[in-house]
Amino acid sequence: KIRLDSVEKSFDSFRAVRGVSLEVESGELVALLGPSGSGKTTILRMVAGLEYADGGSIHFGSVDATDIPVRDRGVGFVFQHYALFPHMTVDENIAFGMKVSKQKRSKAQIDARVADLLRLVKLDGLGSRFPAQISGGQRQRVALARALAVDPKVLLLDEPFGALDTNVRRDLRRWLREIHQELGITTLFVTHDQEEALDLADRVVILNDGQIVQEGTPEEVCRQPSSAFVMKFLGDTN
Ligand code: ATP
Repeated sequence: KIRLDSVEKSFDSFRAVRGVSLEVESGELVALLGPSGSGKTTILRMVAGLEYADGGSIHFGSVDATDIPVRDRGVGFVFQHYALFPHMTVDENIAFGMKVSKQKRSKAQIDARVADLLRLVKLDGLGSRFPAQISGGQRQRVALARALAVDPKVLLLDEPFGALDTNVRRDLRRWLREIHQELGITTLFVTHDQEEALDLADRVVILNDGQIVQEGTPEEVCRQPSSAFVMKFLGDTN
């Protein structure tokens, strides 16, 4: 379980995140939804340990995150433009994290794990291709396989499907839901796309100007938007 209490983050005098408190239960998929600049990525980066909060606290279970080095947080990331290594095959990209991990594995163990992951992300047979030889949607699946390779306890996804076209996004959403159901990893998913958030998440946290303006299940936020902003934002189609 991840817990944020009154988390603050400023860049110079600009308050990008203003007193955000939220909890993500174990195994839950929570979407952070909001317009550009609302602070979503900054929150994700603080959970990952890539950025430090100026105020408030973040806990992983009962442990203060500041006491857990980034490498030991057990987080896997997928970013919109988290480029794969272009000179490595799909297999090598997926294996990379395992090779640099503290957890030692034999070559046979790594090969077996890569094969399992390729099946999981439905890319069997494409392991020897290079990133330039597969589609954008397939690349994001490889990125997810790479993130999953080191058995993360928490998955952080920042607009992972942002650069893809609508149909591919829809397919990947369905696919991510299946994977999440199968693995049950605690997942924080950042998006500015309300359809994506409502379709995918167990719970949606809506942000504006660095603050949470509403949170609830997709049904709750759709049925009872808490403000004109939420109503307009959920109604917009982009
Ligand atoms: P987007 O969807 O556009 O990425 P976001 O909701 O993820 O938006 P953030 O990237 O978290 O928003 O940014 C929140 C605010 O903080 C923005 O106004 C942004 O310009 C500012 N900001 C983020 N990172 C930095 C930084 N390193 N230095 C200065 N300002 C920053």
